[in-house]
Amino acid sequence: MLTTTFGYPCIGKKRELKKSLESFWKGKLSEIDLLATLHTLQNESWTAQLDAGIEGIGVGDATLYDRVLDWVVRFGLIPQRFRSLSGLDRYFAMARGKDAIAALEMTKWFDTNYHYLVPEVTPDVTPTANFDDFIDTVRRAKSALGERAIPIVLGPVTLLRLSRLDGVEFNAILSQLIPLYRQLLSELQELGIAEVQLHEPALVFSDASELQGAFEMTYRELDRVGVPLHLVTYFDDLGQNYTWVANLPVAAIALDFTRGQNLELVKIHGFPKNKRLGAGVVDARNVWRVRPETVTDLLRQLQAVTIDLCVHPSASLQFVPYDAARETQLPEPLRNVLSFAEQKLEEVVSLGEMAAHRTASSRLDRIEKNWAAFRLFCPAKPEVQQRIESLKVDDFERSQPYSDRVSQQVKLPPFPTTTIGSYPQTQAVRKLRARYKRGELTLEAYQQQIDFYIAYCIGVQDGMGMDVLVHGEFERSDMVEYFGEQLEGYAFTRQGWVQSYGSRYVRPPIIFGDIDRPHAMTVREFQVAQSLTEKPVKGMLTGPVTMLNWSYPRTDISRKEQALQLALAIRDEVADLEAAGARFVQVDEPALREGLPLKQERWNEYLSWAVDAFRLSVGVARPQTQVHTHMCYSEFGDIMDAINRLDADAISIEDSRSNNATLLQLTDADYPRQVGPGVYDVHAPAVPTKEMFKDSICKCSQHLPIDRVWVNPDCGLKTRGWQETVAATRNMVSAALELRRELNASSNGQQ
Ligand code: GLN
Ligand code: ZN
Repeated sequence: MLTTTFGYPCIGKKRELKKSLESFWKGKLSEIDLLATLHTLQNESWTAQLDAGIEGIGVGDATLYDRVLDWVVRFGLIPQRFRSLSGLDRYFAMARGKDAIAALEMTKWFDTNYHYLVPEVTPDVTPTANFDDFIDTVRRAKSALGERAIPIVLGPVTLLRLSRLDGVEFNAILSQLIPLYRQLLSELQELGIAEVQLHEPALVFSDASELQGAFEMTYRELDRVGVPLHLVTYFDDLGQNYTWVANLPVAAIALDFTRGQNLELVKIHGFPKNKRLGAGVVDARNVWRVRPETVTDLLRQLQAVTIDLCVHPSASLQFVPYDAARETQLPEPLRNVLSFAEQKLEEVVSLGEMAAHRTASSRLDRIEKNWAAFRLFCPAKPEVQQRIESLKVDDFERSQPYSDRVSQQVKLPPFPTTTIGSYPQTQAVRKLRARYKRGELTLEAYQQQIDFYIAYCIGVQDGMGMDVLVHGEFERSDMVEYFGEQLEGYAFTRQGWVQSYGSRYVRPPIIFGDIDRPHAMTVREFQVAQSLTEKPVKGMLTGPVTMLNWSYPRTDISRKEQALQLALAIRDEVADLEAAGARFVQVDEPALREGLPLKQERWNEYLSWAVDAFRLSVGVARPQTQVHTHMCYSEFGDIMDAINRLDADAISIEDSRSNNATLLQLTDADYPRQVGPGVYDVHAPAVPTKEMFKDSICKCSQHLPIDRVWVNPDCGLKTRGWQETVAATRNMVSAALELRRELNASSNGQQ
């Protein structure tokens, strides 16, 4: 086998699956029709791969919601609360919750932006085999693809490593699963398939060595079935585990050569003669054409190690959109160096042929020419690079330490109130932006309407007595897109959707050149807002690390350098906001945590430049300007030092769901500056009463000195309606005002 794949997009080129799912959930589409959509999309993906010439086409990865959940159901790992349900009803209850039944928890799949549902295993769960849907898919795939159909199975050790085991021992539940996996392999063997892929990305975690025994036992058992097994790893290298993994009893091992140090490992330790080496050389996580020179050189080095080589994408192609050729609005030189799933298939096949015949391929020549044309189209910007080279230590520092600058900043009463930035993005606001984008409105007419929303928003906040106001972010559809669209070096796709979770798809923008800010991006809206109120208005910006982590980055310069370029653009914006009179600037970094590398030994390197990028973006602020940042929905414990090093004057965090756990992590680490522990859960429709707010604020202030507590919601309000937003924030502000009065009364009483 010269070429293979590990999964393909299944959302539909026109997002058919999303549409079908949403109508099914509304009761407007039958189960049969929903499955028909899925099957059609599966067929399309198989045909695309067959037509491209892939020899081992991974099948069975298409999902109605989540691939991990699919295996949870197939192995009967059903928590008690779902057991009275069945079929798709149960499946979607596990995914999304149903009435009072809470869904499984959702979290990020390794370091990708795909989210899976976390399996829950408790002592009362007995694994059972329910493989009908999978066997049916493989049977259909076999009739479409013949010998080329290769089933994709989530490996048992990874499945359990990603599960929440509660009162259950890892090895105990593993030994219950193994006979079921053997049964599955036997059923696949009976269908006459050539080999089975077992995906075990858990092998790249730093702590994989702790699972060595489990892996060895499992694969000894699975090997006895007699089906050739393809052990698939991705997202990073095998590190210190390389040698024992290489010796597991499997027919082939796939390694990711686009990330980490696998090449070095293979060269140092060699690769077993009796196994096929899978070369993940086409980056499945990014959208760029291969660099022919680099990749052919890489293949040559691998051929020196083994004669049995198979070329494939570094992981499933679910992380890239379908087809770059559809993005006709992009300049041709750029489009020609973009590689989405269809282009990546071509690359895999060309490289496979090249590896087999050891000859150059005309397709690779063309890619080389496209890169040359792109470099002419998008030359480096020496002024940006020079600016980065000439950065000094001082550029990353505020001019005075927090203790000196805080007294110069706007003096606010105790329990100051604010919000995180966005206000309701109603249908009307979205329509307004869409009409402007389509050219149906002049810029003047559009801005007039936006200003109307800003005025309304300021009026609402001022009226209820909020202390630090925001303009509401009505001009922004997305916190990265809005800035990216105004920066040079950023491109946006029209149809580049990838699945984030379930029926939620995102279109990550693409950083393709040096980042430059041709003009101010937020000053006009800030000025409009500030002109309407005596209260301070906070300038709102997206941080450089979040911009980077929510985009497809370039691969010709480091992520660090791209973060610094973005930081310079934000820095100039901070300076412009200040010049326009802003006394508060908030730079959001909700994606800082998620950029952490998989291997802990690389965390420090990432955190060091990520924090530097943030500091560079706000270091320009005068001591009198109060810098805020915001983070939400992530584990802070791991990165407390980094959060502290950001040196923001105030941080607002999501805390209302975690019962103050996040706040405690901050206070346990002696966080020395101001904190706004979100007291309003913006993702719940409930409107908390004033008493409830008072209660939460009091709880938070037990952990923080009163003069360092902010009162705010836990994230932006854009997903809420106006009525609930006004009701909830009014209760929040009244609670703060009342506590303020009580505090004043008691301190007067003491005098
Ligand atoms: N300022 C942004 C907003 O209010 C922050 C969003 C986020 O944290 N994801 O919407
Ligand atoms: Zn947030």
